[in-house]
Amino acid sequence: MKRYIKIIKLTKGYYSNIVFNIVLNLLSSLTSLLLLLLLKPFMDMIFGKLNTNATSIAAPQASSSLINLDSYTSHFTHYFATFQTQHGASQALLLLCILIVICSFFKSVFMYLAFWIINPMRQGVVYKLRNAIYEKILNQPLHYFNDQRKGDIITRTTSDVGEIEWGILNSIEVTTRDPFMIILYLGALLVLSPQLTFFIIPMLIITGLIVGSLGKTLRKESKNVQENLSILLSTLEETLGGLKVIKGFVAEAFMKRRYDNFNLTYNKSMIKINRKRELASPLSEFLGITVLAVVLWYGGNLVLTNTFQLDGSGFILYIALFSQLIQPAKNFARASAYIQRAYASYDRVEELLLADNNLLEPQHPIDFKGLQNSIRIDDISFRYQAKKNILSNVSLEIKKGKMIALVGPSGAGKSTLADLIARFHDVNEGAITIDGIDLRQINSRTLRSYIGIVTQEALLFNDTIYNNIAFGKPNATTAEIIAAAKVANAFEFIQQLPNGMDTNVGDRGSKLSGGERQRITIARAVLKNPDILILDEATAALDAENERLVQEALYILLKGRTSIVIAHRLATIQHADEIVVMQDGKLLERGTHDALVLANGYYKKLVDMQRFSI
Ligand code: ADP
Repeated sequence: MKRYIKIIKLTKGYYSNIVFNIVLNLLSSLTSLLLLLLLKPFMDMIFGKLNTNATSIAAPQASSSLINLDSYTSHFTHYFATFQTQHGASQALLLLCILIVICSFFKSVFMYLAFWIINPMRQGVVYKLRNAIYEKILNQPLHYFNDQRKGDIITRTTSDVGEIEWGILNSIEVTTRDPFMIILYLGALLVLSPQLTFFIIPMLIITGLIVGSLGKTLRKESKNVQENLSILLSTLEETLGGLKVIKGFVAEAFMKRRYDNFNLTYNKSMIKINRKRELASPLSEFLGITVLAVVLWYGGNLVLTNTFQLDGSGFILYIALFSQLIQPAKNFARASAYIQRAYASYDRVEELLLADNNLLEPQHPIDFKGLQNSIRIDDISFRYQAKKNILSNVSLEIKKGKMIALVGPSGAGKSTLADLIARFHDVNEGAITIDGIDLRQINSRTLRSYIGIVTQEALLFNDTIYNNIAFGKPNATTAEIIAAAKVANAFEFIQQLPNGMDTNVGDRGSKLSGGERQRITIARAVLKNPDILILDEATAALDAENERLVQEALYILLKGRTSIVIAHRLATIQHADEIVVMQDGKLLERGTHDALVLANGYYKKLVDMQRFSI
């Protein structure tokens, strides 16, 4: 029930649509009841009852009860009997058929309008949920995605949201239209024959309970299905991203086996859940027909022994009305299956939406206007989810306009330290301050608007070069973008492309070379003109010629700017104002290139190693 309320709450803003939908469904149900009631005079006419003794069919008395069905059917019968004596049987039959067509027309119109009015609600909920998930993804700290498979997030955004859509639609139908129809038909049956109806009501309740219990078992299995789909999509995503490696290692068979395994698991879980879900409908139909058979047997006997209040055509009308109960009952059964699946999916979507964001934004952020003096790293320690410290008691000061280089073996914690300055994570102990302001007191987006980052992996989006450069400054003019491309040594190659700035770079920039991609990301950083620049192995993936081109571009970008540069190739950072050597999350040595070489420590060893390796 709690979940049901939560799901219904998603429809906030569309309550008027729901009300109209209920009203239209109500009208549609009423017209379908009317349609059935027309059956009685029709049968009377066919069986010749109207013909024999029209005048003997007494005009019905005005009834005090609103749902006196007998009175309505007698009204019909009386009306048609009179019509038949005046205009003949054929005309009466024609009138009846025209009325049937009109009723059916209105029934269909009301049904369609009910769908028409509920449709924006259905799509609106899906739209809101997808946006909420996307916003959540954008706001989650980076480390959240280390633990979360991408395929899983995609599944939650697409398939799970789709399940919720069906669940909501079915919930609304079964809580508004179907109960109303059931009450309407049951009411009609009661009026026609209380005796028979009271006899079958307990059987109907038992049928409902059996079918309902089936739906409940679906929830857990549905969660399994969604999880299996997540794994499948994650593998697909990994494959698309790593096709080159897969082909390069001739690992197609390996990947295929892996994918096939997951695919088979998903396939099996789908077969299982579909079999169970589709069982609900035939089961309820079978049970419904069984009850109908009981009605035929019991009611038929009453008719045969002349102890029934209904005549033959009245009994047929009763059966026709009863058969109409089967459809809403089937809907109930099917809907309960959909709703259980929606509950499982809702749990998964909610889990994502409520995921902890331990990178809390300050309640009253300090108005940060850019770096004035220095960044201070004050005795900080940091660890990821694991207990082990990745950085321990690190202290460092980076003065405005200075270039600090971080060197050291892989895994020393250099990237982590740079990430902490951009506040991708928060320190566990100590503090990082800019001009005396703790980073945690600055809105992280404000802080990052003063920081430019160029990493080893030049990430471009599947868009034009122009848009990829303008990415960090959407209102930039074309002249500014060209100027940035020139500074980044990129303008020349861009000009040679068939569509120049409007060339699409392909998925993740795959239509460009590594060096070209990197120069575009540098142009992006140049355009942003940040106070603080973080270069994380920006040239590591490049060949000598490209590295020279990129290095030239970086040189201009770095000039006079506060920067933290992580580099393996020491030649690129020789001119840094300070070189900090890190090892195992600690600062080992620091000083200028000359001073560190003179000190003859770890840095000197690194320099010597690289000299020999060239
Ligand atoms: P460097 O840049 O010096 O090569 P990193 O800062 O990337 O080093 O990594 C330092 C350590 O932190 C490594 O031991 C690595 O395994 C660990 N590490 C890096 N990123 C994560 C992460 N997202 N989650 C858990 N551990 C991480």
